[in-house]
Amino acid sequence: MFHNPYVKKVYSNLQTKFAHQTEYLQAVKEFLSAIEFLIDQDKNMKKEAILERLVSPERIITFRVPWQDDQGQVNINWGYRVQHSSLLGPYKGGLRFDTSVNESILKFLAFEQTFKNVLIGLPMGGGKGGADFSPRGRSDQEIMRFCQSFMTELAKHINEKIDVPAGDIGVGQREIGYLYGQYKRVKGIELASLTGKPVLANGSLGREEATGYGLIYFLQAMLEEENEQISQKRLIISGLGNVGLNAIHKAVSLGGIVVAVSNSQGSLYDPQGINVELLENIINHHNKDLSFYSKMRPQASFSKVSIWSRSIQADIALPCATQNEISAHQAKNLIANGVRYLAEGANMPCNSEAIQIFNQTDNFIWAPGKAANAGGVAVSGLEMSQNAIRLQWSFDEVDQKLQSIMFTIFKTCQATCQEYNLGKQYAVAADVASFKKIVDLIRLHGLV
Ligand code: GLU
Repeated sequence: MFHNPYVKKVYSNLQTKFAHQTEYLQAVKEFLSAIEFLIDQDKNMKKEAILERLVSPERIITFRVPWQDDQGQVNINWGYRVQHSSLLGPYKGGLRFDTSVNESILKFLAFEQTFKNVLIGLPMGGGKGGADFSPRGRSDQEIMRFCQSFMTELAKHINEKIDVPAGDIGVGQREIGYLYGQYKRVKGIELASLTGKPVLANGSLGREEATGYGLIYFLQAMLEEENEQISQKRLIISGLGNVGLNAIHKAVSLGGIVVAVSNSQGSLYDPQGINVELLENIINHHNKDLSFYSKMRPQASFSKVSIWSRSIQADIALPCATQNEISAHQAKNLIANGVRYLAEGANMPCNSEAIQIFNQTDNFIWAPGKAANAGGVAVSGLEMSQNAIRLQWSFDEVDQKLQSIMFTIFKTCQATCQEYNLGKQYAVAADVASFKKIVDLIRLHGLV
């Protein structure tokens, strides 16, 4: 798997110590594979224990979250904050509330967040947190009580200079609102203690749209390089959360044809292009039941089968749901159906075997989440700036800055590809570019 003895040793130590943390090991392995050739070239790295410092979080906080449901039953969940790296600034990254949450998933997310944030070029370190609690099917009151209990503990470990959480799966403006309210009660007013706040509560315009829009801006830059454009391209987009929905909006506004979408219940294919108005109506008024769409539009078909396993002709795939949603088999299926471009809206949505298949396929170009989905946390960074100067920028101002950040990230990946002869391997380039910056930072800081 690895040829460099130092890389081998670091990875096998992790495997022994964290044998069950499969997502964490997967993220580290992908990363080490990408940067291994740089380790070959710099013998000092081993002596300086650069890799050991890079792969281990600075700190992990784990806590119990007791809360009472509407029936009066007391429930206990687990809360976490993984503070991975403060090299570039306060730990920065979202909170995920989902039953799947565990230490492995948050460690992989915090690890990747660190490199993503380095690529953005704003002063933000990397972190991630959350709880094995899902707001799905819970009343507003229950969610509020959970958020209050979670924040009562988390508040001891964060503030705007140390660690600034935001949203992720299961944590949107509603949850951030409750979390921020509790933070204020416990610790006092501190505008940038959280980002992704509702606009009315000192949030940034454009934050909600940022990850999905940013993904499309990155895709635009990537296509332009191939003398192609989004207009008239057929897209498959998984996930109907904040990322997927905003990606759909932006893609359609640029003339793209979104032919298939999905949520946790199933997938929907409309060969004529998804009618976004009808889709939103279903999300808001029909319990997100996508089968309702096919009842209204006979040419469309709903299926419980994964969107990635269906036979759908398309040009572009945008996985925006969650980690490891695309397997090797599904990667082959996409290629067989004509897909030539993929950009990750979710974090690590393609498993290692799927990535191998993409990399072995001629003329298949893909962008990693670390680069392509950086728009969300980038605008979080802009929210912190606005809070600090007590100003609110207009939607257009924020959107302009987002476009320029995404374009710059693409250019960084491209320049790195050129420098190291990487062809169009943007995933390797993203890792290489951020790794180089981090190594410089480690050396600047001394023993950290
Ligand atoms: N959860 C988002 C991500 O994966 C955004 C985090 C943030 O805004 O801090 O990058």
